[in-house]
Amino acid sequence: MSTDTLLPINIGGELRLGGGDEYASLYPATGEAVARLRAPSLADVDEAITRADHAFRTSGWAQRKPHERAAVLNRVASIIRERGEALAQRQRLDNGKPINETRNLVSSAAATFQFFASACETLEETITPSRGDFMTMSVYEPMGVVAAITPWNSPIASEAQKVAPALAAGNAVVIKPAEVTPLMALELAAICEEAGIPKGMLSVLPGRGSVIGDAITKHPLVKRVSFTGGTATGKHIAHIAAEKMMPVSLELGGKSATMVLADADLDHAVNGVLYGIFSSSGESCIAGSRLFVARALYAEFMDRLSTKAAALRVGDPADERTQMGPLITAKHRESIEKYVELGLSEGATIRTGGVRPKGTAFDRGYFYRPTILEGVNNSDQICQQEIFGPVLVAMPFDDEASLIEQANDSVYALAAGVWTRDYKKAWALGRAVQAGTVWINTYKQFSISTPFGGWRDSGLGREKGRLGILQYMEQKSLYWGLNEKPLAWAN
Ligand code: NAP
Repeated sequence: MSTDTLLPINIGGELRLGGGDEYASLYPATGEAVARLRAPSLADVDEAITRADHAFRTSGWAQRKPHERAAVLNRVASIIRERGEALAQRQRLDNGKPINETRNLVSSAAATFQFFASACETLEETITPSRGDFMTMSVYEPMGVVAAITPWNSPIASEAQKVAPALAAGNAVVIKPAEVTPLMALELAAICEEAGIPKGMLSVLPGRGSVIGDAITKHPLVKRVSFTGGTATGKHIAHIAAEKMMPVSLELGGKSATMVLADADLDHAVNGVLYGIFSSSGESCIAGSRLFVARALYAEFMDRLSTKAAALRVGDPADERTQMGPLITAKHRESIEKYVELGLSEGATIRTGGVRPKGTAFDRGYFYRPTILEGVNNSDQICQQEIFGPVLVAMPFDDEASLIEQANDSVYALAAGVWTRDYKKAWALGRAVQAGTVWINTYKQFSISTPFGGWRDSGLGREKGRLGILQYMEQKSLYWGLNEKPLAWAN
């Protein structure tokens, strides 16, 4: 992609340069610019939302029959699949994830559009039991303009997870991708328009969250915000939403517990724990970043785990054998290094990693080695705060009562993992652990048909699942009078 010319953004369906500051999207593996663009100004934000509202009211999208909207969404899915490789390569350049991962993100985005096409055309409205001389119905209406605010870690997949159900429901959408990863949202909007989504129904406003995201959230024509990102930002958005009486869904941070019981299948558990924390370089909300291992197994398990962690292939995201690419920015790597220092100051020891990889291949990118810290207590800050990087804290546990107490002792409650051959223990722990998703003898597997979200500081609401479309709709009750005579009260 040429960086000589500035990349236009999508303001109410019009492709043009933003009126804000110029900046570059950098390839995290080299620090080189892959695109230059200008962020929107506040006037651009207002224009995009006003145009979205106009398109919602006048384009006829919301009035199309569900199967007609579904046909367009299925076309979006087909175009994403046709251009899969190019999109995956562009996603790699935008956020530095290994190519195999970005290919998965792209196919997940296509599957999401296909899934919500089906959800749209099969959504049933109900006739409820009548309790008088009237017939009662429960129906759903689109909301108007909804905002999708997304982080940088899985752009095309998390954007599709919001845009597909919101469009399926008949809404107009304004996407605010992370400032550092603007490219996939722009691609997605272009594909949607090509597939038949009317102009203006989709805008893309990359730029600083505290300015652009804030202005979008506060805008009176925005009727819902679907947010994925950090807990502090989520709470800030929730405050604004409370003032506007606006519904929000918040997919936030995590510090997920992985529990390995004494009878676990070691080969499965070691691979699952490694994948759970170190895939995506640990830049994953559901990363299994707090590990509890039965004391009887601890020494052997940690030997196997740390040996394999040290052998993980960190490197070039374009290489299909790479397991861990760079971190998103130099600043984010510094924050991870500070967390490791914090752990050490709390008494932790480094089992493996704790350093940047050495060699010319790593000089310009933001690489960091998979890191395991031991000698920690669950109450330590290093065990309580989300690091969002390739850092695992590991602790032995003595019994299942203390295990569940520690696993649940966190402000976060996004996900958890249980490794055991005993189905009764798996059932007991799986039910007792407080988390939006629990993986049993597997980890970090996803399905668009299964709801996803967090408890406590990990979020509010659920995305995905057949009913995920209802997040973007208002429920309405209709009463149809069947009286033969006028209502008696006024007689
Ligand atoms: P973040 O700083 O909260 O940013 C997320 C998005 O919000 C970005 O687009 C950001 O814009 C924008 N934003 C920032 N301040 C805002 C404001 N005042 N008003 C409106 N929008 C604002 O999070 P991040 O560092 O990008 O992402 C990492 C976090 O996301 C982690 O905590 C991770 O666990 C969480 N996450 C959760 C899930 C989930 O499904 N639960 C999935 C992925 C990630 P900028 O471009 O300026 O940053």
